[in-house]
Amino acid sequence: MKKAHVDEFFRRLAQVNPAPETELIYHNPFTLLVAVVLSAQATDVGVNKATPALFAAADTPEKMMRLGETKIRNYIKTIGLFNTKARNVAALSRILVETHGSQVPEDRAALEALPGVGRKTANVVLNSAFGHPTIAVDTHIFRVGNRTGLAPGKTPLAVELGLEKAVPENWKQHAHHWLILHGRYVCKARTPECSACRVAEFCTYKAKTTAARDGAAKPARKTTAAKTKPVTAARKRKPAAAAGVKKRPTNGGKAAR
Ligand code: SF4
Repeated sequence: MKKAHVDEFFRRLAQVNPAPETELIYHNPFTLLVAVVLSAQATDVGVNKATPALFAAADTPEKMMRLGETKIRNYIKTIGLFNTKARNVAALSRILVETHGSQVPEDRAALEALPGVGRKTANVVLNSAFGHPTIAVDTHIFRVGNRTGLAPGKTPLAVELGLEKAVPENWKQHAHHWLILHGRYVCKARTPECSACRVAEFCTYKAKTTAARDGAAKPARKTTAAKTKPVTAARKRKPAAAAGVKKRPTNGGKAAR
């Protein structure tokens, strides 16, 4: 993507959704951290089905620690990798109580030292709970960064570093959500809806789709890149309007993911 187009690219995504938020349900930094840990290799929809009951039982590190791994497992057994995730949530809760005064640390290294927390999760928490202008590269952002030419890269870290350079400061706070939502609902993994895409004119993807007669987007032509794009469970979601992100309970005025 040409540098001169980047500002307009984000201006248009912002027009669609001026105040984007995470689609995960959470109530405070701790429940955000837990929800993001649970969302690894799972959909937000699946996590949101399990977490209301879990958070009703335990919405602080102390309560989660007291709940314990076995009961946590029962609450989240509908989520993939629930055994490992239950173990991690119990362990990270104990560390927060014993080492961080029961607070979620506003620090990347301390976050990444918690069980089940990697760079992506730390970025999400820093962005949504503490307002840092971080960009967590998930499968959607990885795809959009590469297809659009905004920040091409072979690894999530390469795309993240590319985005840090490419995204103007005034768009960084919400860039994470705009790119995720664009990837989830418009620039979908298998068949992007290029004919309805508000930023198509700036996108350098060579296999843009065209509108078919029945209204469904179809690939204009196949490329190696198109064949090898990661296929995510997120594409099973109904294509809600990109502007129609539901408001979720937030953490009392903290910036939302
Ligand atoms: S034009 Fe197509 S490939 Fe490019 S960002 Fe839009 S939906 Fe994605």
